[in-house]
Amino acid sequence: MKFGIVYHWRDPFEIVQMADDFLELRIFEEDLKNKYRPWKSKLKELRKDWDYEISIHMPEYFEHPNTGLNTLVDLASTERKIYNFSLEVIKTLIEFGKSIEASKIIIHPGGISEQPALGDTTKKMDRLKKSLSEISGMEFAGDILLENMPWFYWRRDGTRWFSTICYTPQDFRPLLKYCDGMVLDFSHGYLSDSSGSNRYLEEYTELYKDQIQYVHIADSLPPDNEGLQIGEGNINFEGILNKLDKTQLWLVPEVWKGHENFGEGFEIALDRINHLI
Ligand SMILES: [Zn+2]
Repeated sequence: MKFGIVYHWRDPFEIVQMADDFLELRIFEEDLKNKYRPWKSKLKELRKDWDYEISIHMPEYFEHPNTGLNTLVDLASTERKIYNFSLEVIKTLIEFGKSIEASKIIIHPGGISEQPALGDTTKKMDRLKKSLSEISGMEFAGDILLENMPWFYWRRDGTRWFSTICYTPQDFRPLLKYCDGMVLDFSHGYLSDSSGSNRYLEEYTELYKDQIQYVHIADSLPPDNEGLQIGEGNINFEGILNKLDKTQLWLVPEVWKGHENFGEGFEIALDRINHLI
């Protein structure tokens, strides 16, 4: 098992030092705008002394070229423009990943909506299959991983929206052949519906043990409380982690505001996880 830490180039060096094996780079729309330039120079600097592997988490938003508004990257969008822009964002992300020899790139499925899923989601799933197959056709030596979503989705502005696809294990079955594996986000999996259940997480491990290469770790409470410190919610970490294939697993703590105070929250989370496994 490999242990990493979530990192943005503005974070202090103390955060980098907490990673045992890898850094998960968090990308924001400003990074898209400046064409990843600060990242490239920062990583060059870090790599003089440190030999970390790299994973990259896709940006959640991009600045819409027509409206100037921050818009969710949505690879399942049925709106042609949003779909095309989103695909472009991910393609440049993969080019960036290639240029820094990243090992893994984490992709969200999209399909986030102001209203809950009503009826047929075939169209969105088809768009997602199409975008993923285009992405997987790109020349990239690492793994493209698809992450599971929670039922309630918090936007950055504090409004609560909904996932309409990929919030239950079943949706992943037709999708995983278009990527290299999946990220199991513990908080998201537990909150697959508003009542919250470890049963959902167990189901992911039963169905996709071989495909789950990567885990995001934080605790949760129903109906929508994600990113809690380990032990402050209801997730059975020990039971679920022991069902996964630890030889291939990459783990990052994803505790809300864990990077503050030089990564205090991340450190506590890693310590608690190490005591559980
Ligand atoms: Zn994510």
